[in-house]
Amino acid sequence: MKHAGFVTRERFFRTRAMRVCARKGARHPIATGNMADNCKILFLQTIMPSPSTCPCGGATFATCCSPFLSGEAVPQTAETLMRSRYSAYTLGNEAYLRATWHPSTVPADRIVGENEHTRWLGLEIKSALRLRKRQANLLESPDADTVEFVARYKIGGRAHRLHEVSRFVRETHDGVARWYYLDGSFPD
Ligand SMILES: [Zn+2]
Repeated sequence: MKHAGFVTRERFFRTRAMRVCARKGARHPIATGNMADNCKILFLQTIMPSPSTCPCGGATFATCCSPFLSGEAVPQTAETLMRSRYSAYTLGNEAYLRATWHPSTVPADRIVGENEHTRWLGLEIKSALRLRKRQANLLESPDADTVEFVARYKIGGRAHRLHEVSRFVRETHDGVARWYYLDGSFPD
């Protein structure tokens, strides 16, 4: 489901590439969907725009974190919330970071520094603790979860690595269950 948008998009550009080739008199079976080599090159180099991957590493921003940041959808798992918060950091979305931080631990000061030029380079999820617990049948509460991740970023040309184990809690307000970031610890 998450990649549906990308698949449709790829099929669209694939078909367009074949049509362009057909006009040039190239021979290939459009009906079967197989592309001739010259079509593939055209498709890869010129017609298919570079995919706009989500900052968190998901397929596309539109099918991944964008619906959460715009408020159209609510992340259903702590990991999804964590990913959307990472994307919010890369975009400097102070409002989203504040709204998804638990009121008991949210900082009073700005979360994203106004004059801070952080370039976020990538996110790697190490583990979602609840998944491991579920597998081990040791689940304590369905409303608490932990996500371990490594985020890489650069400030003023210097590379940094943030390794954090984040804690999340789920609370229901106005009939909507939402995950909130609580706090984090740093294994190294
Ligand atoms: Zn994402």
